[in-house]
Amino acid sequence: MSDIIHLLPDSVANQIAAGEVIQRPASCLKELVENSLDAGAKHIRVIVRDAGRTLLQVVDDGKGMSPTDARMAFERHATSKIQQASDLFQLRTMGFRGEALASICAVAHVEVQTRREEDEVGIRLEIAGSEVISQELVQCPVGTNMRVKNLFYNVPARRKFLKTDQTELRNLITEYQRIVLVNPQVQFTFVSNDEIISELPTCTLKQRIETVFGHSSKPYTGNLVDIATETELIRISGFIGKPETANKNSQQYMFVNNRYMRHPYFHKALMTAYSGMLLPEHSPSYFLYFDIHPDAIDVNIHPTKTEIKFADEQAIFQILLAATKEALGKFNVAPSLDFTTESHLDIPQRTNNISSVSAPRMQLDPNYNPFKAQISRKTPSGWNQLYEQSTDQAYPTPKNMPSADINVLFDAPLQIENTPLIQWDNRYIIAPTPTGLILIHQHRAHTCVLYNVLLEQIQNKQAATQPLLFPEILELTQDDFNTLELLLPELLSVGFSLEQFSPIAYAINAVPALLGQKSPSNAILQLIHKVQDTEHSASEQWQEMIALGLAEQMAIPQGKPLTEIEMRDLVERLQQASSSRHLPNGKTISILLSHEDIQKRF
Ligand code: ADP
Ligand code: MG
Repeated sequence: MSDIIHLLPDSVANQIAAGEVIQRPASCLKELVENSLDAGAKHIRVIVRDAGRTLLQVVDDGKGMSPTDARMAFERHATSKIQQASDLFQLRTMGFRGEALASICAVAHVEVQTRREEDEVGIRLEIAGSEVISQELVQCPVGTNMRVKNLFYNVPARRKFLKTDQTELRNLITEYQRIVLVNPQVQFTFVSNDEIISELPTCTLKQRIETVFGHSSKPYTGNLVDIATETELIRISGFIGKPETANKNSQQYMFVNNRYMRHPYFHKALMTAYSGMLLPEHSPSYFLYFDIHPDAIDVNIHPTKTEIKFADEQAIFQILLAATKEALGKFNVAPSLDFTTESHLDIPQRTNNISSVSAPRMQLDPNYNPFKAQISRKTPSGWNQLYEQSTDQAYPTPKNMPSADINVLFDAPLQIENTPLIQWDNRYIIAPTPTGLILIHQHRAHTCVLYNVLLEQIQNKQAATQPLLFPEILELTQDDFNTLELLLPELLSVGFSLEQFSPIAYAINAVPALLGQKSPSNAILQLIHKVQDTEHSASEQWQEMIALGLAEQMAIPQGKPLTEIEMRDLVERLQQASSSRHLPNGKTISILLSHEDIQKRF
């Protein structure tokens, strides 16, 4: 029999790679504009037709390419930005993989015209399906003009996956905004179907933010507070919105080394600083810029991923939290801020290189007098009410709270030591104690125990995980897929290992060890639906929701017979839980029938 393995032709290999890098017109825009920025452009024009389907053009006045480089640029792994692996840790450019142009030209008709300052003539190339169709020397301005036409002309499945023009244009604009918000020194123009929809002159960062969002109902002018802090580990600067301008559609942006990122953990630091200042469901706007040495973040990130891993997340959390509180306090917008306790910072030690972390240096306004601010600090009317509302939200009051005396008794830990335990109806554990009879809901008791274990694992990032011998493929509806994408960090932290498998499917490679023999797909689907069903679920609550959702799924069911040993084990572990009365969703775990209650009945 003849050998059967052969190398794929470049055009096919590039098309496969394109599936990952270029998912929609917006990813193409991102790659092209980032190349223009890397080329030092001062003015970048984006021109699209039919939301990028028929034309996506990026014209820049950057350094251009030589005719040879222009041809090379479309080869896979062709890059001028790194030469060896160690360069990855010094990375200051947006691109480095040398994949983008190769991917784009595999799935579109590309026309490029480019010239360097030192060359008299430029080159014009036409490429389709990775093949150079024509090339000629031309007169053209310095810089690069890249026209991508008929995206996915040879990949019908991709074309079908695209949304309406309206949605794709929105995706393009989102990507454009993420770029313009970090490059105020560059002039940008965005033209869609011959209409200029954005014209941004060079300006300061603050002006750029105000111009980009100036049209929205709550313009930021005058409502952004500076935030700035610098430590040896990281520099954080930018702007945060005053609490009173928080709303349901706030703009929240974080960038690291000029790259947009999503970071739920740092978002939480911010929300913690604002806690008690916001109406329920409202969240503040923020524009935060992190500058960190490239070796302290994982640079080898996938081009379409916005999650970024930091080596010192906990230290950065504390720095960000302190800086935000400082900023809110400095502008007298944080009535609850206590200057005496906030003036020192509690920064966890960096484990790998302790000596390189020093306390943050706050950039303080020299005219700022904290004591003056403290004296003139006003409590806004309705403050108490606001505050109460927000605590209520964090600790929901169950509708079926037991009466007050039982509450008092049960605030103390459960006093069940050597009393005999009885299972009744395969549902409840009855424990006779000196104060009365304790009735325990077995499923909820176990849920409570598992919830605490899972939450601790999530928070310490030490989930016990169990690899699957055969990965399970989880196919999702678009809605479920979108929710799953949002929940990914939490799911990973609880012990799942997931990998995108297709535009609407994930491969489940590992599951939390506690899940046992339960179906991983069902477990994830239930979590997705739980988050979707919870009105106004905020990302800060996802960890708790996922821990609780999983615990509910894994806990022993009602109706299961338990041995004396199992009951004792469960009761002992419940006794160690911080709350043995109620689950975080308010459901009752255990009730006490006191002597008095029982006597009254006779
Ligand atoms: P990467 O950006 O990862 O290096 P790309 O495929 O995006 O890979 O680009 C390949 C190379 O083509 C770049 O390294 C750069 O040298 C060159 N190039 C691409 N776009 C431009 C541009 N607009 N101006 C100048 N050079 C460019
Ligand atoms: Mg690039």
